[in-house]
This record gives sequence, structure tokens and C-alpha cells, in this order.
Amino acid sequence: MIIFNTLTRQKMPFEPINADEVKMYCCGPTVYHFAHIGNLRSYIFEDILRRALEFEGYEVKHVMNITDVGHLTSDADDGEDKMLKGAKRENKTVWEVAEYYTRAFMDDMKALNLLHPTVVCKATDHIQEMIDLVKRLEENGMTYTANGNVYFDTSKLSDYGKLAQLDKQQLEAGARIEIDPNKKNAHDFVLWFTKSKFDDQEMKWDSPWGRGYPGWHIECSAMSTRYLGDQFDIHCGGIDHISVHHTNEIAQSEGATNLKPWVRYWMHNNFLTLGKNEKMAKSAENFLRIQTLVDKGYSALDYRYFCLNAHYRKELTFSWESMDSAKKSLMRLREKVELLGDKEGKEDKDYLEKFEKAISDDLNTPQALAVVWELMEDKKIKNPDKLSTILKFDEVLGLKLDEPLEFKVSNDVESLVLERNAARKAKDWKKSDELRAEIEKAGYLVKDGPKGTEIQPK
Ligand code: AMP
Ligand code: ZN
Repeated sequence: MIIFNTLTRQKMPFEPINADEVKMYCCGPTVYHFAHIGNLRSYIFEDILRRALEFEGYEVKHVMNITDVGHLTSDADDGEDKMLKGAKRENKTVWEVAEYYTRAFMDDMKALNLLHPTVVCKATDHIQEMIDLVKRLEENGMTYTANGNVYFDTSKLSDYGKLAQLDKQQLEAGARIEIDPNKKNAHDFVLWFTKSKFDDQEMKWDSPWGRGYPGWHIECSAMSTRYLGDQFDIHCGGIDHISVHHTNEIAQSEGATNLKPWVRYWMHNNFLTLGKNEKMAKSAENFLRIQTLVDKGYSALDYRYFCLNAHYRKELTFSWESMDSAKKSLMRLREKVELLGDKEGKEDKDYLEKFEKAISDDLNTPQALAVVWELMEDKKIKNPDKLSTILKFDEVLGLKLDEPLEFKVSNDVESLVLERNAARKAKDWKKSDELRAEIEKAGYLVKDGPKGTEIQPK
């Protein structure tokens, strides 16, 4: 498998530390609100990655965290506490907010047919691991305390910022605009807070530095080590995490163990935007949820198909027109699969090879979908063989292509069908033809079956 590694900015062959098992960590959701469909693009990408690795024969240990500790609305150490913001908005405790949105996130995962990670770990269940890690960093001389908070001293690492390719110049330029007077260096960040910036912080724990709560980045270093060991293969997240969150995760983990590289391959998905480079963000309140799509008549899997049609490293612009076309394509595909019958045959070797070539080339899902359509149109392949091959592809695509076809017809179209049945009964062929034309105009194929008018989406 070839993957693009953010660390080197190059495509490179994938070689795991252990030959058969891949250890992969994915930054999970911050559960102060519903996940928006941009967030979910990240998890679809990670799911495809995992499925592709499994397709290649690897066993994958997939760890995802749940950020349920209150953090700040901006990536830097300022802004408002996100969990607290959610709690105030809903008149709930922060714990209730976290539980509610964790559950909602799991529902979205299920609807999108995302495989459940091998381990799902909550930050609030791993405070001790975080404290131990900060202690380790302290022993290694990587920290300092200022105004009650423990900071990571980025000047102690000669290669700080390598993931984001922040060079020294930029680091120094950053120093000149730094505003936090407690920080020794511009990019230093808090590992443990005892001086809360919020008067009513609800989540607090005892620690060697006083009662307080962890900085945001430490949870991922602590939990990935707990479940995957000191070094592992792949770490994923959205591109927004490269410059701060993942950069600081590397600093913490390599600063604690001195083992480099902590993670061999970093993979980042690009953003889902709303056009004109507008970014969809939870905090901006301009977000669409899976439920928003469902309310408008799309399925979660239509959205999955929409995402697969773009490469994960390309920015993807959302539009209702492209959702319509994804919905139509998926419907047509399902219909074609249904027409293959239910007898399975042999997987076609050539098509499998083509599909694998696409998917193992840095997860080229648009190309993989092109192979799917080529197979479906290929008259030389027998139906049972086609079925077996497409179901094998679907182990990676996760579109549930073997589910029975279901489509909702609007009330208008349904009345046209009833009217046409009545016209045919009355042998009014002219009217029946007119109604056929109307139904076709609405996007359906019309057939005359034993029970009257049968329709299928075009
Ligand atoms: P959060 O819940 O804010 O921590 O974000 C969860 C994941 O979604 C992270 O991997 C982010 O990088 C990613 N993400 C946030 N916004 C978008 C977006 N508009 N498009 C794609 N991924 C995003
Ligand atoms: Zn993380």
C-alpha cells in the first residue's frame, strides 16, 4: 500500500512496525455538540483507511478517543471552554452534555456504516495516565511552571514543529507576536492547568501540581501510549490538527520517551467546505448534521458515497446538487446490484486487481468507484461473479450494497402512479401515456408489471 505521509509530504510504501498488525490512532470528537458532516468526513476517511488495510490482509488495532474534558474554543490556550459552552447552552452539567453527544456521535457512526474502533477511550477515564505522562516530561526537564500552570518547553526539542514544517524562523517570528506572558517560547503550551481561566470549571482532578485539569493535547499522547505502546504506525485527523494539536502530541510523546519517530505515518484529510472556502465549524454554528440530510430525504450512506467520490486529501465543497447526484448514483448502483440476483459466483481476478490498485494508491476512492461502475457495465462478466466481486469491493466501500433496495417516492409521484393505474384499467391509453411521460419527467423509469405501474429511479 502506498500512502501520503504528512511527515515527509510524500507518498511512500506503507510498512508497519509488526508485519501483520497495524496500530492506528484517530483523534475523536469533542463532545460538546453534534458532529457536523465535515467532522464526519474525517471519520469516513479513517474508516476507509481501516477497511483498506484489512482488505490488504492486515489486522488493525484502531483506537479513537472521545474528548470529553472541557477545552478551549480556539486551538491555542485561549477562548472559551467548549464543554462549558455546551452545558450553559443546554442547562445541563458538562458530564450530561458529554454523554448525550457521545451517544449521538455513535448513532452517526452507525448510520454511516463506520466500523466500531477496537478501542474507544474517554479522556475523563484516563486522567491518571495524563498525570503520569506530565510527570515523565517533568523528569526529562521538558516542562516549567508559571502562574500555577505546567507548560511544555518547546525550546527543549530541536525538531519541534517538524510535522507542520514550522522552521526556526517562523518559530522566532511567532515569538514576537506572543501574548501569554507566562510562556517562555511562542509555541509552548499548557500540560496541566490549576489556574482555571473559567470561574466555574466543573471538571477538576487532584494532581501533583494542584487541583485542576489537563491541557488538550496530552490526552491523545497518554491514551495512544496506553493502548498502542510507545511507538505505532498511523495517526490520523483533519488537516487543521497539523500545526498545533498533532505537533504538540509529537512533542509530548517524543519528549517523554526519546523514541523517534513516535508515529511513522501521519495521514490528514482535507476539509469539507460550504463553498467560497467557507469552513464548516461546530463553534461557528453553521453546520449541517447527518440528521439534517436525513430530514431532507437523503440517507447517511448517500453522504458516504458523496465523500468517496472525492479523494480524501482534496478539499470537498458541499452542495445539495452534488448530494442529489450522489443519491441518484447510489440508488442506481443498488438497483444494478439487485438485478444481479442473489446467487454468488467467483470474484473476478482482473477487477479485484484494478480495485486494489486504486485503493492501495493512497486510498483513491474516486478511481475505486470508477472500477465499480466499469464492472457493473461489463457484459462479459456473469451475474453471480459480478455479485461476488462487488460485495468484495463493498467490504472497503461500506455502502451496504447488499441491502434491499428501498426508495421513497414523493406523494406527487405516487398519485401519478395511482392515476395511471386507473387510466389503464379504463383502457384510456392516451392518458396512460401522458402520465407515463410525467412520471418519467420526475426521474423514474416506468414498467408495466403484473400489479400495474412499477417505477424505478433512473
Ligand atoms: P473535533 O470534534 O472538532 O475535534 O473534530 C473532529 C475531527 O473533524 C477532527 O479530525 C477535525 O480535524 C475534523 N474536522 C473538523 N472540521 C472539519 C471539516 N469541515 N471538514 C473535515 N474535517 C473536519
Ligand atoms: Zn488528538
